[in-house]
Order: sequence, then structure tokens, then C-alpha cells
Amino acid sequence: MTTLQTEVLVVGGGATGAGIAWDAALRGYDVILVDRADLAEGTSGRFHGLLHSGGRYVVKDPVAAKECIDENVILRRVASAAIEDTGGLFVTTPDDDPAYGDDFLAGCAKAGVPVEEIDVAQALRAEPRLNPGIRRAFTVPDASIDVWQLVWALANGASARGARILPYHRAVALHRDGDAVVGADLRDERTGEEVRVEAGFTINAGGAWAHEIAEMAGIEGVSVVPGKGIMIAMNHRLVNTVVNRCTMPADGDILVPIRTVSVIGTTDIRSAHADDLPVTQEEVDQMLEDGDRLVPGLRSSRALRVWAGVRPLFDDKKGGGSTRDVSRGTALLDHRDRDGVEGFITITGGKLTTYRLMAEEAVDAMVQQLGHDRPCTTKDAPLPGSEDGAYMLAGARLRTRDSHLRTEQLICECELIERSTLEAGMRSRGSRNLDDIRRNLRLGMGPCQGGFCIYRATGILHELDRLDGAEASESLRRFLEERWKGVWPILHGDQLRQARLDDWIFQGILDVEHLPGAPA
Ligand SMILES: Cc1cc2nc3c(=O)[nH]c(=O)nc-3n(C[C@H](O)[C@H](O)[C@H](O)COP(=O)(O)OP(=O)(O)OC[C@H]3O[C@@H](n4cnc5c(N)ncnc54)[C@H](O)[C@@H]3O)c2cc1C
Repeated sequence: MTTLQTEVLVVGGGATGAGIAWDAALRGYDVILVDRADLAEGTSGRFHGLLHSGGRYVVKDPVAAKECIDENVILRRVASAAIEDTGGLFVTTPDDDPAYGDDFLAGCAKAGVPVEEIDVAQALRAEPRLNPGIRRAFTVPDASIDVWQLVWALANGASARGARILPYHRAVALHRDGDAVVGADLRDERTGEEVRVEAGFTINAGGAWAHEIAEMAGIEGVSVVPGKGIMIAMNHRLVNTVVNRCTMPADGDILVPIRTVSVIGTTDIRSAHADDLPVTQEEVDQMLEDGDRLVPGLRSSRALRVWAGVRPLFDDKKGGGSTRDVSRGTALLDHRDRDGVEGFITITGGKLTTYRLMAEEAVDAMVQQLGHDRPCTTKDAPLPGSEDGAYMLAGARLRTRDSHLRTEQLICECELIERSTLEAGMRSRGSRNLDDIRRNLRLGMGPCQGGFCIYRATGILHELDRLDGAEASESLRRFLEERWKGVWPILHGDQLRQARLDDWIFQGILDVEHLPGAPA
């Protein structure tokens, strides 16, 4: 068994855990960040894509609204490369009460969210697909944020300062020495290898799984209730601005343009388990119907895929020693104060937009427990790639493609991924898992859902990594299985035709189920 030593072990590699790793590394700590799967494969990689302006919360939850706008401003400065400055609109549809707009304006003023009421005609000129029956429209600084870009920038920034980033390393046990947590046992989910980590301090950033990690340290009563939400990606940008319904937060009331698609969401349903998130036909129908109120015709537009994420809703069975803030939905548990267990804290709940603040609060709590004096610097330190403060641009890949049209082989037509970019991505991840490459580059995330690019990418991975035929086939088959999970619940119209075509390619031409290495 390999043994590693570190000052800080972070369990959970979503936005919060990666944010903690970056924050702690900037403060000069030696860090190990682990996740049971790839980074951001939990809730962070299954969210809606919205960098909140706070507008959504100004009436219902002014504290959360203020936090969102403060963090929105900071992230635009330090994480610009992951943010597309789409702007946001709140619109009063014919089903909404126009008087809410007055409460909304007052709430924005109170929380400090920049807002302007504009003519409906102006809103419709900017977003011609919007419901022509809208009665009021307001602009706010919402934006979309690419979570994989963000989380890997955090991880790479931490790693450049010496942090060790270990995806696919599941914490299977936490070690106690008397009243202190002193490290963990990890299992490499790819090889089965066991790794022991001796850690001076352990931070549980396990999101909706935080209670399971706390239990490994013998800590009871950390209850995290999973709240499921579904989202549907439409095959192109039906809007170029984040569009919200101007009403109390409800289901299916936000449409977010992100990269090449737009995403309608979301719902909030209590779920039995964070790893069991079935999507029902009723939920899909309801979501498309809700989206239709914002953009008439959305229901019959082409839907690419559906997925579900899980909100960690914290419900402290024990109380005491927790700085849980019900309003913000964030819970920071100092287990020394709460349970008499040193060297261990839990942070859960919150929003992706507030990941940096959560990380700051968690690392501050650790620094205080350790009796150090190391202030947080993440408000001002730009992430790798964001040094110039330039926002992500939706058309950037097209521009690059145009500049060397004749020299590069295009592997993924939907997302404009060229061979050199794909090879560089495969080399830098060093992964044999095509899904890991997908997340980093958006491979196969466009309308064909991998139909045309993924067999090419498999061939390239085979060549680069010297996978044998069986391993390459297995990698391809796993990718197709994963894609299928998100495709079958929304199959209708053009996407059904696409799925049939993909099926002919993979079953008819490649006979993918009987390639070498396929299970008998
Ligand atoms: C449907 C939905 C839509 C949302 N939309 C938005 C939005 O538009 N904007 C916004 O700001 N917020 C949004 N949120 C909230 C936001 O997504 C979450 O608050 C945020 O992603 C939580 O990040 P996290 O790092 O705390 O948790 P996670 O991303 O879930 O990270 C926890 C990690 O712990 C890992 N883990 C679990 N057990 C172990 C173990 N034993 N060993 C190692 N690792 C382990 C998991 O694999 C996971 O990666 C949304 C949430 C949902 C559910």
C-alpha cells in the first residue's frame, strides 16, 4: 500500500473541494484533493450553468442574493476564462403577476444587484424567440459558467503550487487518533490499489455525500437530504442571454445559454439517495412545457439530453457547533466545537456561484483551528487562464478554426474540436476514459451526441495511449452507454432520427456489442 503525507486532505473534488484546494495551496499548505470519480462529476458537473447575479433570490432570500452578486463580481475578475458574459433578463410572462416586478426592483436595490427595467420591445429585439406576450423585462448581470473549465483551473492552479490531485480515489475510511482525524484510506477506483494518506487536517467537501464521509470519522447526525433537479439541453442557443421568469423561484423558470447549447431547468424533488436519480417522462414533459412559457416552441425544439443533479440540503440532527446558515443553504461544521473531534471540518450546501466564499470560510476555519495566521487571497488571485481578465467567447473555437481551416483535421464537428486539440487534451489528462476527455473538451456534447466523433476519438486514443483493441472497444462502449442514459428519456422528433442514425453507425457498421473485448 502506498502511503502519502500531507498537511491538508480535501475529500470531494467538486467546485467547493477544488476551491478549497486552490485556497489552501495559495496560503502555502501542502494539499491532496481526492474524488471518488473524475473532478466535478458530482453535483458541480450536473448543475444548470448559471453564474447567479442574485436576481433569483432578491425577494425570497436577500442574504443569498447579496452573496451571489458579491461573488459574481469577484469571479468575473478571477475566473473570467470560465465565464461567458451573457447578461441576464428577468421577464414577466403572461402567466406571471406584473406586480412582482416592483418587489423585484426593490429587492435588487436592497441587495445591490444592478438592474434596469427595459422596454419589452427592446427585450424582444435582443431575444427574438422570447414569448411576445411578456409584459415587463429587466436586465441583470447573470452569466453562464463552464464548470469543467473552472474546476480544472482551480485544480491546475493548486497543482502548480504543489497540490496533488487524485481523481478516481474514493475515501473508504477516515483514521482517528483519539479525538483527532489524522488521514484516510483511499481506493483507486480504476486499479483497485489502496492508498493511505496521513493528513494534518481533513476537510470534507463531499456535497450531497458529506454525511457518508463524516460517518467514516465516527461523526453522527450530519444529515444531508438529496434534492433532485433535472435539466434539459436544447440543441442550440435558443437565447443568447440567461432568461429567468420574473416570479418567485419555481420549476423550469430559467433558460441558460452555455457554449453551443441552451439549458432549461430545473426542478427540486426530495430524493431517496444521491446516487439514484431516475428521470421520469412526467418531469421531462413538465420541464419542456415550463420552458415553452419563456420561449414558445421550445417544447417542440430538438432536445439533446436530460440529466439530474442533487442539491445537498443540510439538516443538522445534532445542532451546536455549526455555522449553518439556513438562508444561504450553506453549512460549515467545525467538528472540534460540534463533536469534540479535531482536525476535521465539513462544508456542504450552497451554490456553485458561492463556491469561492465557501472555500474561504472552510479554510479560515481550518487556519483558526491550527492557530495559524494565513489570510485568504482568492479574491484577487486570477486562476490559470484568467490572468488577462478576458471572458470565454461562444465563437472562439469557430474563430480559431477559421484561421487554419485547411491544415487541421476536424474530429468533433458539433463542438469544433480539431485533432491537435484532442490529442493535447488526451495527453494532458492521461486518461483512457473518453468521458473524462468529453468533460474537458466537450467532445461529443453537440447534436450528434458523439455519433460522428466518438469512434474517431477512440481510434486516436488507441493510437496515442497504445490501448489494445479490447481496451479501446471497452472505452467506446462505456462512452456510448453513458450518453444513452441521458438521451433515451427525451427521444422525439429530430433527436430520435439522430439516435437511429447513431445506432446504425454503432450497431450496424461497427457492431459495437461484439467488438473484441465486449462482454459475452
Ligand atoms: C439541479 C441543480 C442545478 C443547479 N444549478 C445551479 C446554478 O445554475 N448555479 C449555481 O450557482 N448553483 C447551482 N446549483 C448548486 C450547485 O451545483 C452546487 O451547490 C455545487 O455544485 C456543489 O458543489 P460541491 O463541490 O459542494 O458538491 P459536489 O460537486 O457534489 O462535490 C462533492 C464531491 O464529493 C465526491 N465524493 C463523494 N463521496 C466521496 C468519497 N467517499 N470519496 C471521495 N470523493 C467523494 C463526489 O464524487 C463529488 O464530486 C444547482 C444544483 C442542482 C442540484
